[in-house]
Amino acid sequence: MLNKVYLIELRVSILYNKTMKKDKKRGLLIIMSGPSGVGKGTIRREVMKDKSLNLYYSVSMTTRARRPGEVDGEDYYFVSKEEFQRNIDNNNLLEWAEFVGNRYGTPKDKVEKMRDEGKNVMLEIEVNGTTQVLKNCQGRDVISIFIIPPSFEELENRIRHRGTESDEVVKTRLKKAEAEMELKYHYEFIVLNDEISRAAEEVRDIIRSRMNAKIIK
Ligand code: 5GP
Repeated sequence: MLNKVYLIELRVSILYNKTMKKDKKRGLLIIMSGPSGVGKGTIRREVMKDKSLNLYYSVSMTTRARRPGEVDGEDYYFVSKEEFQRNIDNNNLLEWAEFVGNRYGTPKDKVEKMRDEGKNVMLEIEVNGTTQVLKNCQGRDVISIFIIPPSFEELENRIRHRGTESDEVVKTRLKKAEAEMELKYHYEFIVLNDEISRAAEEVRDIIRSRMNAKIIK
């Protein structure tokens, strides 16, 4: 009798340890959002220079035309509308959204694989995509960060300075930015992009503290 109880306890303990170990090893999911032109990409590149954070950037899929200098497979996977639709139909996307006439989405398999391997995965997505991710993945393993500009004028300057969009698209993106800013309180952290290096350090601190909390858990 005693042996039976002991064996059951042993099994439970092995199972518990296995689950805890897997949980500890599984990487974080870091969502970085904010209005178009706020500097998410620049902050992300700066943050990723710190190799101790063990980060992997999830390259999104988009139907948007490639901007000069953008590299397929690095900045985005540039796909046709038909291919994007196939990915939706086959349930290949963790989330997707329409943004100023184009579609953007996060390929699911790679995110899962990287997290299972212990990498902390970073998504750079707009607000509707964040809502979908937060609905499906919750808990201490998910971090949501919203980047805000110092002012609206500054945001307009940045988008216009980029010089890649027509005046009409710039105006639509600015209108969209106003609506997106309203949703900043849905995020766990709000980071002001007044200066790239400072904002990047703040994001690094957020990630570090969650990584440490995971080790202590
Ligand atoms: P852009 O055309 O300026 O590269 O991107 C437009 C917006 O779409 C940005 O706010 C960008 O962060 C967002 N975005 C990029 N990739 C994804 C994605 O996979 N999913 C969602 N929901 N938004 C994305």
